Amino acid sequence: MAKPASASSIEELLSPAKPAVSAPATATPAKSAAPQKPVTAKKITSATDKLSEKMTEIQWQEKEKLAQQHATDLGMNYISLRAFPIAPEALSLILRKEAETRRLVAFLKVGNEIRVALTEPSEDATKFIKELEDREHAHVEVYLVSDDSIERALKLYDTLPEVKEVIYGYRIEEKDLERYAEEISDFRQLQERIGKVSTTDIITLMIGASLKSNASDIHVEAEEEDVKIRYRMDGILHDAATLPRETWKQIISRLKLLAGVKINVDDVPQDGRITIYLTNEKLDIRVSFLPTSFGESVVMRLLRPKSIALEFDNLGIRGLALTRLQAEIEKPNGMIITTGPTGSGKTTTLYAILKKLNSPEEKIITLEDPVEYKLKGINQSQIQHDKGYDFAKGLRAILRQDPDVVMVGEIRDLETADIAIQAALTGHLVVSTIHTNSAAGAIPRFLSMGVKPFLLAPALNAVIGQRLVRRLCEKCKVPAVLSPSSLAQAKQILGSISPASNIKVDIGALKFMDAKKGGCEFCHGQGYKGRVGIYEIFNMTKTVEEAILGGAISEYQIQEIALKEGMITMAQDGLLKAADGLTSIEEVLAASNVDTFVTEPEAPVAPKTEEGKTA
Ligand SMILES: [Zn+2]
Repeated sequence: MAKPASASSIEELLSPAKPAVSAPATATPAKSAAPQKPVTAKKITSATDKLSEKMTEIQWQEKEKLAQQHATDLGMNYISLRAFPIAPEALSLILRKEAETRRLVAFLKVGNEIRVALTEPSEDATKFIKELEDREHAHVEVYLVSDDSIERALKLYDTLPEVKEVIYGYRIEEKDLERYAEEISDFRQLQERIGKVSTTDIITLMIGASLKSNASDIHVEAEEEDVKIRYRMDGILHDAATLPRETWKQIISRLKLLAGVKINVDDVPQDGRITIYLTNEKLDIRVSFLPTSFGESVVMRLLRPKSIALEFDNLGIRGLALTRLQAEIEKPNGMIITTGPTGSGKTTTLYAILKKLNSPEEKIITLEDPVEYKLKGINQSQIQHDKGYDFAKGLRAILRQDPDVVMVGEIRDLETADIAIQAALTGHLVVSTIHTNSAAGAIPRFLSMGVKPFLLAPALNAVIGQRLVRRLCEKCKVPAVLSPSSLAQAKQILGSISPASNIKVDIGALKFMDAKKGGCEFCHGQGYKGRVGIYEIFNMTKTVEEAILGGAISEYQIQEIALKEGMITMAQDGLLKAADGLTSIEEVLAASNVDTFVTEPEAPVAPKTEEGKTA
């Protein structure tokens, strides 16, 4: 058996080709399983054959030399693909039709590095390669090759059976998505429909149905007996469909092809991206693969510009909190921080603030990990951990760009915190997030990183703590029937609203609404549709500043001062929204870790939270 053409390293693979003397002279790929040409006839004329083989070899070497010279003249890289092991993953990056008309192939893909070979550079090829880079979020290095090399690579499109499959349906087309979206009115019909389509179409169908039901994530999980498909909608996961275990292999391979990750790797996590070109926009899907006991878990996050289009005025911040925050945002310098766990809508709030500030007179630069949504008129840059471009380095670089407003995705270490604070103190408005449960918790968090109190106090303008709760469906919400304990809890929380907040609540006249069991057509049977933020916001006032400088820095102490000055807690804001019929008490109590915010020691707590979450 002939040794397959392989080399020990990428460098070796890419080093200028030596004439492949040891390899069989014909371009027959190492895959010798293919039926041989008539052997009997060949034997008779073996001497003539040998001569012609020799001639072919010489001619081939001549042609390669010419190609190499041509590359040198043009200042380009050169490579011979004659014995190069081209992987299907690389080849499939470019559709056969496009490869043939442009005489260009992708012959190597390692991480986000792609190598493309062509026989003649052209404007069209350059444009095409740029598109490839954008589509794959990768860097493409171009190599000049001989006609023979291209021919050999093009032939691989049909010699490797996997490649054919790869090419077929490599992209998800808008018309197919539309077709499925039309057939399905929401995710509850997925199970019925999914059994009737081919494996190739399952993923298109899944995405179509997720668009229709406004899901933010699709989870595809291999389990012992079957394959589970779940959708996250308004923050809650729902079972959408189950597929027979036999389909797993095909589904996971296709997902990996679409996402541009390694197909034969299933024991380490991988990240990829699927881009679907729609008529007026493109739909990006971030795909993450994680090994699990029974295969892999795949999560597809749908990045839809629409979902981030929230305006500042529609965030759901109201009353005194709104007036005060607005004043802080209009200041030319200082720091505005949002806090909350993952999925609490922090980024949406930051984006809404940036959009409000966005004007031709302001230079706004962001540093994100990763950039999920493009914002017009704002310079967005992305963290690259593997290249050492982290928040601290990125922030330093950004400040040299003379910005007015800077957004830093997250502050999680002293270095980043210090640079951000310096920037805030020297005439920049800095917006960022920090990982704490409450707004007041941001102060002790900063200080525990090692930030100096005398720098933090003057730099900080405002801190926003937030959660997202589901909005009751306007079409089917019903009056709430509350247990005496829930009602008492709600009354107690609302009854303790700070007098300085100027909010008057008539405790005796409180009315709440609830989700209707089984919902309606409009809310896909959920009883809820969309989400709204609940907030607690405090500003840096003289009193807070003095407290920080005086060493009164526990979360509790900061919160006490903030409440005295008119802050309302997330739980209070949420219950006020519940009293307005926007959401349910259950949602608010589950989302706002009530125990943190009610200062009375006997405050009812945790079990309620659990209940609310599973509801
Ligand atoms: Zn409804």
